[in-house]
Amino acid sequence: MLGHLLHLAGIDSVIVENRSQEYVVDRVRAGVLEQGTVDLLIQSGVGERLQREGLPHDGIYINVRGQRRRIDMASLTGRRITVYGQNEVVKDLIAARAASGRPLFFQVGDVSVHDLDSRQPTVRFTINRETYELRCDVIAGCDGFHGICRPSIPEGRRRTFDRVYPFGWLGILVEAPPSSPELVYSFHDRGFALFSMRSNSVTRLYMQCAPDEDATKWSDDRIWDELLTRLGSDDGWKPLVGPITQKGVTGMRSFVTEPMRHGAMFLAGDAAHIVPPTGAKGLNLAIADVWRLSRAVAEYYQSGNERLLERYSDDCLQRVWRAQQFSWWMTSMLHRPDTESLFDWRRQLAELEYVTSSRAAMTSLAENYVGLPIT
Ligand SMILES: Cc1cc2nc3c(=O)[nH]c(=O)nc-3n(C[C@H](O)[C@H](O)[C@H](O)COP(=O)(O)OP(=O)(O)OC[C@H]3O[C@@H](n4cnc5c(N)ncnc54)[C@H](O)[C@@H]3O)c2cc1C
Repeated sequence: MLGHLLHLAGIDSVIVENRSQEYVVDRVRAGVLEQGTVDLLIQSGVGERLQREGLPHDGIYINVRGQRRRIDMASLTGRRITVYGQNEVVKDLIAARAASGRPLFFQVGDVSVHDLDSRQPTVRFTINRETYELRCDVIAGCDGFHGICRPSIPEGRRRTFDRVYPFGWLGILVEAPPSSPELVYSFHDRGFALFSMRSNSVTRLYMQCAPDEDATKWSDDRIWDELLTRLGSDDGWKPLVGPITQKGVTGMRSFVTEPMRHGAMFLAGDAAHIVPPTGAKGLNLAIADVWRLSRAVAEYYQSGNERLLERYSDDCLQRVWRAQQFSWWMTSMLHRPDTESLFDWRRQLAELEYVTSSRAAMTSLAENYVGLPIT
């Protein structure tokens, strides 16, 4: 997305990706796009398929121990979310990049960044065992949580804030049409579960599990027993059972590194921050970061002014911490606590009662869920 926005501003960039093109387009992850993300994709000319195939949602359901209650986000905020797979967004962006004729290299190796404090930092990498060195004005560290950019900042020049949760999500991809037109978040005595979808024929379901759960120990029948128990509601609603085509466990973590800049290198997305997926914020934060970075870089080339580059980290971190708070709150409210004490359990039930009945509380959830405008 950054490469695309820079291209529109007439600025050259080189993208190096260490995985293959097939791998990145098959990697199923996020699926909930905030209104601001959708608007930006459309305005920047990569939203044509999204508008055709994306599934706009006006609300979500919260199922509290079998009682399904709807939060009507559109009527509370005037904004909505759109379900469109992250890998579909990636496909559209790769197509736009190819059409621009600007460089995008897959399967590069040994990527490293150097001279970050200088006016001309470099990126080194190999393609087919041949070494290349790229001299840059700016390096964008958009290489995710496990990338090399963040660790290239000396430890004394960055501060991290971290929380690892005592549970994970076992996620499955299913060949079955969605039986609910909107997402269902379920709070159940046996643990959290989430019903979501990727298209009109594919659903994506998750359930709370141990952080080190071995997905191979879960047969398809066992997964369905558990999901139907946790998600089914007293009004008779339940997900449709179908063939499971993917299965995997994701850990849950909140993480922020500050500042999001070191010299001429700017971190964006998961390279700088991670949120637990309950609030559906990770991809949307990454998009908001690169929009800000593209504007800052464009201003620098147009006028030599570094004002937006200097403000980049502080400006991004405001949104990042808002999303951190929301994602932590949704996670803490909806998951089964890992303590024997029943206090948290009763407190969560009281909170869920409030959040699904008070207009003020529902508006607060909805406002955060649909996301702040990208400005
Ligand atoms: C199960 C799951 C569900 C999720 N659901 C949602 C959701 O509903 N909504 C939401 O907003 N977010 C969600 N997320 C989070 C979202 O997927 C991430 O926040 C998002 O992918 C971040 O984008 P990014 O570009 O920063 O990082 P990434 O998507 O991780 O991209 C980084 C890229 O850098 C490449 N790379 C890594 N190291 C190197 C290197 N050394 N050299 C070159 N390239 C490298 C990687 O291969 C990768 O392609 C979910 C995540 C998971 C795991």
